[in-house]
Amino acid sequence: MVSRIDGEIIRDVINDPRLFSGIERARSGKVQRFGKRIVQGGKCIQECDFEITPPEKSWYSKEIDGVWHWVEGCSHCNGSPKDWDYVRCDKHDVCVDCGVDREHATKSPGIDGVGAVWGCRGGWRCNDCQEQINKKRLAEAEARIVPDDEYDEMDFWHENEARCPWCKAEINTDESYDACDEEHECHECERTFKLTAEHSVSWTTIRSVK
Ligand SMILES: [Zn+2]
Ligand SMILES: [Zn+2]
Ligand SMILES: [Zn+2]
Repeated sequence: MVSRIDGEIIRDVINDPRLFSGIERARSGKVQRFGKRIVQGGKCIQECDFEITPPEKSWYSKEIDGVWHWVEGCSHCNGSPKDWDYVRCDKHDVCVDCGVDREHATKSPGIDGVGAVWGCRGGWRCNDCQEQINKKRLAEAEARIVPDDEYDEMDFWHENEARCPWCKAEINTDESYDACDEEHECHECERTFKLTAEHSVSWTTIRSVK
């Protein structure tokens, strides 16, 4: 039987003579910072006293009954997987589709300028898996595109919902209420089209009582 606190597994006692009950602790990624850090006007005027890096990247420090412990922060290890974790252990920090770890995962060069994986519900996806999804999405969208001789502009004229005039995908218009021939690329078929917001006015009259 493992001991738990708030549903999280208690891993170990932290043996560090600098720790005492009541010391302030902040998390910065996996690093645990102890001691008071003072920020004034956006500038740090006093750094924390010391830092401790946990033996496992998903562990974090917590004071339990006056004693500092390492506690498991990976929700998968704790038995209640969350869609988004602050930190995950190596075993559970893998592509949601193919299970490859971060080190071996293919990265997208377009993200962050240096290459990264794709964040998604449940964690992240490697670039290979993401490209497979994109390919499938594109193929499905292309299958919906009717040839030019069957295409009728009127089907996309003054519609309640804006749809891509190629693949009929719904277009998000939340930011487009003043659009006039605004150039868009469809997120499903990747073709371009122009969007115009059509506004109409209606009037209401009510009898006023004298
Ligand atoms: Zn885990
Ligand atoms: Zn993958
Ligand atoms: Zn489209």
